[in-house]
Amino acid sequence: MTVLSRGLSWIDLKFRDRPHAIATAVIDGGGTLGLVDPGPSTCLETLELGLQQQGLRLGDVTHLLLTHIHLDHAGATGTIVRRYPHVTVLVHERGAVHMADPAKLLASAARLYGDQMDILWGEVAAVPPQNLVALRGGEQLDVGGRTFDVAYTPGHASHHVSYFDPASGVAFVGDTAGICIDSGYVLPPTPPPDIDIELWTASVARIEAWSPRTLFLTHFGPAPSVRPHLQAVLHNLETLAGFVRALLGQPGSDHEQSVGFAEMLRRELRGQMTGTQLDSYDLAAPFEQLWLGLARYWRKRSA
Ligand SMILES: [Zn+2]
Repeated sequence: MTVLSRGLSWIDLKFRDRPHAIATAVIDGGGTLGLVDPGPSTCLETLELGLQQQGLRLGDVTHLLLTHIHLDHAGATGTIVRRYPHVTVLVHERGAVHMADPAKLLASAARLYGDQMDILWGEVAAVPPQNLVALRGGEQLDVGGRTFDVAYTPGHASHHVSYFDPASGVAFVGDTAGICIDSGYVLPPTPPPDIDIELWTASVARIEAWSPRTLFLTHFGPAPSVRPHLQAVLHNLETLAGFVRALLGQPGSDHEQSVGFAEMLRRELRGQMTGTQLDSYDLAAPFEQLWLGLARYWRKRSA
C-alpha cells in the first residue's frame, strides 16, 4: 500500500535496484500535481512507471517540491524541467542558486562519490531561473488541492526545508528526521559539508511544533510514531557525534577513521536488521560519509 491519504501517495524509486532506499511523494488534486523530491535522473524511468501505475504522467507534474538539493533528492530536477518547461521548482533560496548552476554542487558531490557519479546520479541539468521559486520558510504553498506550510529546517543541509499538510497531518521532512527503513533504526544522515547539531535540533523542534500525524521520509516513506521517531533521530545524532568526537582524539588518518567508523556502525546495525535493509541504509547514507560530516562539524566548532 503506497497511499498516505486521498491524493497523497508515494513511489519507491528502487534506487540501484534496491527496495526502500529513495521515495518520491506524489500530491495529486485540484488540477495540479506535485512531487516531493523527484530523486536522481537514474531513477526517472521508475518514477514515470510509478506515476503510470497511478494513472498519472510525468508530463502532468506541475510542481517539484525539493526538501534540499542533494542529488539523491533533487538530481533529476533539471532533466524533468527540460522535458516539461511548465514545471515550477520550489527550493530554499540557498539551494536555488545551485539548481540554476549546478557546477559547485557537482564538484562537492564528486569529492564524495568520485568515479561513481554517473552510475549513481546520471544527468544533473541546470534549472532555468524562471522555473525556480526560492523559499525561506514561513510560506504557504497551494499544490495538489492542498495548502502546505513551509519551514526552514537546516542541520542536515544548510538549505533544507520541510513541508506540512495540515489537512492530512503529513510532514514531508526530507532528511531532517533521518533515515528509517522498514520501521527500523532511525539513522541521522550526516554527510559533509553542512552538518550542524544545534541547528538540526532546532529543526526537529520546528517539525514537532506542527504536531504531525505522520512524518514522510525520503529514506524511506511514512513514519507514524512521530514523537518517538523524532526523539530517536536526536538521540542517535548525539550518540554518533559523540563517537566521532572521541575518535578525533585518537591517531589515524581521516580515511582510516571513517572506514573504522563505518565498520562499527555496520556491526551495530547488523544485529537489528536484515542484510538487504542494511544495504539500503548504506545506500541512502554511505556510512563512511557520516564520519566525514561529523568530523567537519567538530573541527569547525573547535576552530
Ligand atoms: Zn541529504
